[in-house]
Amino acid sequence: MADLQAIVDEIHDKLAPRLGEGKVADYIPQLAHVDPKKFGMAIVTVDGETFKVGDADTPFSIQSISKVFTLTLALGKHGETTWNRVGREPSGSAFNSIVQLEHEEGKPRNPFINAGAIAVSDLVLAGHTPREAIGEIVRFVRYLADDDSIAIDPEVAKSEQATGYRNFALANFMRSFGKLDHPVEHVLGVYFHHCALAMTCTQLAKSGLFLAASGRNPLTGHTVVSKQRARRINALMLTCGHYDGSGDFAYRVGLPGKSGVGGGILAVAPGRASVAVWSPGLNHNGNSLLGSLALEMLTTRTGWSVFGH
Ligand code: GLU
Repeated sequence: MADLQAIVDEIHDKLAPRLGEGKVADYIPQLAHVDPKKFGMAIVTVDGETFKVGDADTPFSIQSISKVFTLTLALGKHGETTWNRVGREPSGSAFNSIVQLEHEEGKPRNPFINAGAIAVSDLVLAGHTPREAIGEIVRFVRYLADDDSIAIDPEVAKSEQATGYRNFALANFMRSFGKLDHPVEHVLGVYFHHCALAMTCTQLAKSGLFLAASGRNPLTGHTVVSKQRARRINALMLTCGHYDGSGDFAYRVGLPGKSGVGGGILAVAPGRASVAVWSPGLNHNGNSLLGSLALEMLTTRTGWSVFGH
């Protein structure tokens, strides 16, 4: 296997002069305080080896990356009926867009745009109070990463709750079509809190490892999902994980991936490794600018693209 430590070191060195490029998300006030020059990357292989560089052990707000974990939970609870509530098609629209919801009678196009993730939060809430549902999500992520120190950043959750007008609009719009089972405030309480999970690149790469290893976390031996489900979640990440930049990410990186406006990206190289990268500056699609570039460099060097060497 290629010398992965040398590769991540080289990526870090090459990107060092560009740290700070891109635009840090500021529509969630708390996110605007993050140092734009942070950069971290961690690779955890299916053999259990870890390679990391830069700020790989500094926690950051994972934001929409959490949608991979809530989708996994919703599928575990509701199975294929999940798809009655949310579609599986790329949206081609911004992460917080409302336009398609009107045409599709309140059914979001996929679970990774905001509207879709709000529908998924509603499914995770089934049979729970919001506090219980949030607890279930946190426990699930801790179990995936095998790390009980993972927690929600309450300041980020509060900041988003106070200013999430667009998400309130999306949720109310869906509710008007009868597409949410729970009160909007409860659903959004769950949504804002899971977006506010704070994790390091290392923790994130570990928690995504089950997707690289056919549903089983090789570090813990836990079977998290079936092989088929892992494959399908990867398919959704590839086609929908970067909003209206998903095609570009597939073209340049060639891996299933999920981004968040905190500047993180979780990428899955099936059969090989789980990779997390963090650089807060975003591109025009709201995806990490240097994070995408780092992953592009990684797949170019390793030949890990799912589309061939
Ligand atoms: N919590 C963020 C929001 O709803 C997530 C967006 C993202 O990471 O893309 O706006």
